[in-house]
Amino acid sequence: MSHAADPSHPRYKSLLARGKLEEAAEAGMLAASALIAHGRGEAFDYLLGEVTTEGAVRATKEAAARLAAAERAVISFNGNTMALASDDLLRCAALAGADVEINIFYRTPERMIALMSFLEDAKVRIRNSTPQGVNDDGWGEMVDDVRLLGASPDGRIPGLEGPRANCHSDGMLAADVLVVPLEDGDRCEALVAMGVDVIVIDLNPMSRSAKMATVTIVDEISRFAENLFEELKNPGVINRNWDNSAILQSALDCINDNLTKS
Ligand code: ATP
Repeated sequence: MSHAADPSHPRYKSLLARGKLEEAAEAGMLAASALIAHGRGEAFDYLLGEVTTEGAVRATKEAAARLAAAERAVISFNGNTMALASDDLLRCAALAGADVEINIFYRTPERMIALMSFLEDAKVRIRNSTPQGVNDDGWGEMVDDVRLLGASPDGRIPGLEGPRANCHSDGMLAADVLVVPLEDGDRCEALVAMGVDVIVIDLNPMSRSAKMATVTIVDEISRFAENLFEELKNPGVINRNWDNSAILQSALDCINDNLTKS
């Protein structure tokens, strides 16, 4: 990744992310359209100033509160999520007592094998290094408790056709809180229809997923994962009057302000 090696480059973070996606693509973890989806995200991140906005901070706190209070939480991983934020999201799953389920739009056996093997390696990596601010004694066990699901789905998301409906009956189908980063609008709609809390991470505040979610974090997935981990160390209480449309509006206002300034 020579193009991403220089941290003094003004677009270092963006180049680094692209490098990670290139590597993931070479490892067979991504469908061809994954890079296009990333490009759409980058465009919105540019408009948002490539920072975590105040609205995203609030939504991340709400996500942490709901994850911490969940009976059964599942964090869904697709290829892009895995390439950009696997370690931090796995750490979040460990702290929240959540499971992880690979949930991809274009499911092939080869891609599932590549993703599962990447995830297993990531789990070993994070287990071996207790994060700052977390009790060293319990960390290994918390990481061990995170189940990596997705390889042998035995259930289907109601209302969806084809392989993208496949899921685990004791994973996504049994969860009361689902975190679905970079989710396709159709599947998000089907998950919301199951009557559970759906937490979406999406840089596009106008996407169907962003509009349909219970809580939307309009932020870049790797920034979100880092922030969520910090929030999960000391989660607050759930806001039962959560107004998600206000969060989307605040992201649109940020974009508007940035456009007016430039
Ligand atoms: P929808 O069907 O919900 O209207 P879509 O068809 O744009 O949306 P996809 O292309 O399936 O959805 O999903 C990609 C979404 O993920 C896009 O909305 C994009 O903005 C967002 N996205 C891409 N990369 C990132 C990232 N790194 N962090 C957060 N969001 C991202």
